[in-house]
Formats: sequence, structure tokens, C-alpha cells
Amino acid sequence: MPEGDTVWRSCRRLHEALAGHELTRCEFRVPQLATTDLTGVTVREVVSRGKHQLFRFSNAMTLHTHFRMEGTWRIFPRGRRWSGGQEFQIRAVLATADHDAVGYRLPVVELLPTAEEESVVGHIGPDLLGPDFDLDEAVRRVGADPERSIGEALLDQRLVAGIGTLYRSELLFLQGLHPRTPVGRVANLRRVVQRGQQLLHANRWRTEQSTTGDLRPGRSRYVFERPGQPCRRCGTPVLTEEFGPRGQERRSYWCPRCQPQPQPG
Ligand SMILES: [Zn+2]
Repeated sequence: MPEGDTVWRSCRRLHEALAGHELTRCEFRVPQLATTDLTGVTVREVVSRGKHQLFRFSNAMTLHTHFRMEGTWRIFPRGRRWSGGQEFQIRAVLATADHDAVGYRLPVVELLPTAEEESVVGHIGPDLLGPDFDLDEAVRRVGADPERSIGEALLDQRLVAGIGTLYRSELLFLQGLHPRTPVGRVANLRRVVQRGQQLLHANRWRTEQSTTGDLRPGRSRYVFERPGQPCRRCGTPVLTEEFGPRGQERRSYWCPRCQPQPQPG
């Protein structure tokens, strides 16, 4: 699952390549848009909202895409061979005189009036990388259900948008919180959300995300995807489990010493 900073960076690159340019080729390889052709239309801008991508066009329409687990947009200079996957995995092609933007394995590809964008992204919470990020509102939403675990709440994009499994694990380690700690027992929720915003901001231009400040391979994370390996602070083996709402279980990682499970009651 891509993190919010990965989606943000992807949209920045798409924006730099496409914005202000007319489409010279447009293909949607999804049934509902098979006959839609935006050739001749200009790309106004490409922006992210949480993990959603919005391509706004000069004809007052918006292309909405989402990566979910496997999707990606790749940009190639005109004439370069495409290399983002198999031909049959391509869902969309937007080309200008200079660039080809190719969307692979996108589970969501839909076109709607720009004025109706809220119908597809209106439900998502304050965007940690958004220019208008509302910290108070994010803290209010994350704290709304005190019984819910902080681990689940941080992944719920309706509460705060941008955190995936990597930043969840790393953020909770940095705050010394067990992933199953009920939200109501997190002493400083505001600090947790702020720290999440800092982590995403610090990494938004990086291809290799680091939460430790160390960019060397194998040293860039505290606990994420390090099960059984010693905690970087105390040496205790890192633990892992899958948990979450049924059908949306996600893997979490934590140090049992630095992030003790809260006692019941
Ligand atoms: Zn530890």
C-alpha cells in the first residue's frame, strides 16, 4: 500500500510533465471509458488528495485515479520504451508532445466534472500533505472513537489522510505506543498526528523513505518489516501481527519493550 508521500510525489511529477500541455493522445483501457477521448484537451493540474490522484482538464472534467495496493503512474519522455509493467496492465495513457504518462494496474479510473470532485474525495480526512491541512480537525477525527486502537485509526483515511502501514509502524514506535493502544488512552494525540505530518513532509521528495534519518539500505526504518530483528534502541526482537477491521487487516510491527501493550482498564 503506497504511503501518502509516494502519491504526493507521483502527482508532483505528473503535474510537472503534463500541466499546461495539450493531450496529443488519450486512451482509457477500462470498459466504462473505452470510448472517451480527451485528445486536444489541456491538462490544467495534477493534485493529490490523500492517496487519490486528480487530473484536472481544461474542459472542466477531472480524471480520478487511485493506486490501492498495486497501481502506479509512470512518466516517459516521448519515444522512450514504456517499462511499468505488462501491456495488459495498462489502464490509461495520457500523452503530450513531450511525455507519455502511463497508468498501470489502477483499480480506480473514472472521469467526472471537476465541480463534483467532492463526491469521490469528500469523505477523506484532513490531508497530511495538503496545503490546507487542518491539525485540529485531524486530531478531533482520530480521537472521536476512544475505544478504537490507534493503529486502526491512523490507517483510516476518513480520519486523517496519508498514513499507510510503513508510517503507522514507525510513528507508533517513535511515540512509544503499542499499535493496539485505545485512542482514548493516548496521552498526546496531537503530538502523534503532528509527528506523522513531519514524517511525510520529510520524505515527500525521497524515493527511499527513511524514518530514522539514515538513508543507507537496511537502516532507514525502526521496526517496519523487521520482524525478529533487534530493536534499534533496546535490542529486543521486533514483533509483528496482522490486525484491523475484518477484511482490512494490515500488518503492524512494534518493539514490545519500547512500546508496551497497555494494561486493561
Ligand atoms: Zn525497543
